[in-house]
Amino acid sequence: MLKSSVYLNQMPHTLPQLPYAYSALEPYIDEQTITIHYTKHHQAYVDKLNDALKDQLDLLEKPLEGLLANLDKMPESIRTAVRNNGGGHWNHSFFWQIMDSPKKEDNEPKGDLANALNGKFGDFAGFKKTFTDTALGRFGSGWAWLVVKNGQLSVLSTLNQDNPLMDNSGMPILGLDVWEHAYYLKYQNRRPEYIEAWWNVVNWEKVLENYTKASAT
Ligand code: MN
Repeated sequence: MLKSSVYLNQMPHTLPQLPYAYSALEPYIDEQTITIHYTKHHQAYVDKLNDALKDQLDLLEKPLEGLLANLDKMPESIRTAVRNNGGGHWNHSFFWQIMDSPKKEDNEPKGDLANALNGKFGDFAGFKKTFTDTALGRFGSGWAWLVVKNGQLSVLSTLNQDNPLMDNSGMPILGLDVWEHAYYLKYQNRRPEYIEAWWNVVNWEKVLENYTKASAT
């Protein structure tokens, strides 16, 4: 079993509780966007995942991460639905956790994670630039990720609701949703402004926790 920060094995799958109020990420991510993103978009992924698995009780009982890491073994009739909606459920469950209310002081990584980011990207600004460029470079809908594999950090992006668990490219410790539904109400087509604002609400304590866990595997 993969060890990650989001271990989802409810049967059927359910929307996890949002760890803060809908307005908690204001002014960087607005209350209306979070409300719709969580109660409509995320809920739809959960519902469609359960629908895809409703005639596959053996699969419905398995933790989601195991399904996503073994899509090739899934019946072809439901593979795409599980990939898109199971991916959407996992990705959003993860995404809510790595954000939190903006802090007054500098919002930067600490501890071993700060050291590892500095070692890999030169400094925090270098990491932010690499991650931002990757998120901006994702054409259309998808995600940017910071992952750990074999103790090494890397930044990558995925299309649609794919994630790094699906091709074993690493364990996500930070992720950013760059679907337009994540920012269009407040930022319209200005993805760079959304990404710049988002850095203010990254929960670095949670990312450090994810890093520690992912590095131990
Ligand atoms: Mn989304």
